[in-house]
Amino acid sequence: MSLEEILIERIGNNGPMSIADFMEQALSHPEHGYYMRRDPFGVNGDFITAPEISQMFGELLGLWAGVSWMMAGSPSSINFVELGPGRGTLMADMLHAAPLVEGFAEAIVVHMVETSPVLRAIQEQTLKNTALKEPPLWHKALADVTEGSSIIIANEFFDALPIEQYFKAGDYWCPRVVDVKPDGDGLCFVLLPPFDVPELPPGLIDVESDVMVEVCPSALDITEDISRRVTEYGGAALFIDYGHSQSAAGETLQALKNHKYQDPLVDPGESDLTSHVDFGALAQRVFASGARAIGPITQGDFLYALGISERADALTKKANPKQAEDIRSALRRLTDVEEMGELYKVMAVIQQGTPVPPGFEQ
Ligand code: SAH
Repeated sequence: MSLEEILIERIGNNGPMSIADFMEQALSHPEHGYYMRRDPFGVNGDFITAPEISQMFGELLGLWAGVSWMMAGSPSSINFVELGPGRGTLMADMLHAAPLVEGFAEAIVVHMVETSPVLRAIQEQTLKNTALKEPPLWHKALADVTEGSSIIIANEFFDALPIEQYFKAGDYWCPRVVDVKPDGDGLCFVLLPPFDVPELPPGLIDVESDVMVEVCPSALDITEDISRRVTEYGGAALFIDYGHSQSAAGETLQALKNHKYQDPLVDPGESDLTSHVDFGALAQRVFASGARAIGPITQGDFLYALGISERADALTKKANPKQAEDIRSALRRLTDVEEMGELYKVMAVIQQGTPVPPGFEQ
């Protein structure tokens, strides 16, 4: 039975399902979920992420993590947590740069938070030759990571978490849900009649009528947990994702397969589903949880401030002409306004009263 057939049967029995439920099934169904069975990254996959474009990305983030560890008072042991680590490339590149900050590499305990067994196996391979004082630990959720001082990195993680959509009709909110098409042949979106006022980020409560809004409850919950950990134990977190700085109305749920957009309801489990991250809502939750949000700023500004041009120059000096062109092209993809430089945003979470971390200074 395909996932579409399973969902059609389920909706037949229980009625329409929420979009968050649908996304959860499409991405994480144990047998058919998109992430559970495949390695989606790269030229032959469905999409490519910053760490897969160039080692420069992870190396600069590794330095960021090391300096953040120093700013947290150089604790002798610190959780180095990555949420949704994909192939493990980012963690490997960050660890490669870690020894540049004296004492940091020796303090690290690596925690990988990953739901997909396939990607976890790839991450284990990627990290198997990395010198660490303790072997990396894997967890299914952040809640399972030991409490304590932590540096937490999330690149293109929040965009994969399930969202809900609501349509504002006059003074009322209609939940948008997934139903079976009237002819039974596939899935469609429908609006439910308004009932309760949904729990929305403050920036979305007063939007005008006739618009769709999105909210990602699990991203807000995880942000709250991160903020609490940083406030109680020290450390810092870094979120990098595509999205908007302020909460705004609009529909951004999208499906990507073989680097092309497609209908999110067609062939569930076969395409990557994402939505734009509402950094305004996340920042609001950070402050509400007692921590401080810095940014978001654009990925281009952040990487330039961390010295990506200088790093590219240094790598180019040792490169042959083909490698030099690859480095220039990677630099463009990561920082150009038309590429990942502007749509992708970077936000840090730090303790109240601690200095602004690298990359965000004015
Ligand atoms: N950070 C990586 C991968 C981004 S893709 C990179 O930049 O290349 C999203 C990642 O999050 C995948 O590893 C996916 O399996 C994982 N993931 C998705 N939902 C998750 C969840 N609820 N908990 C933990 N990991 C999740």
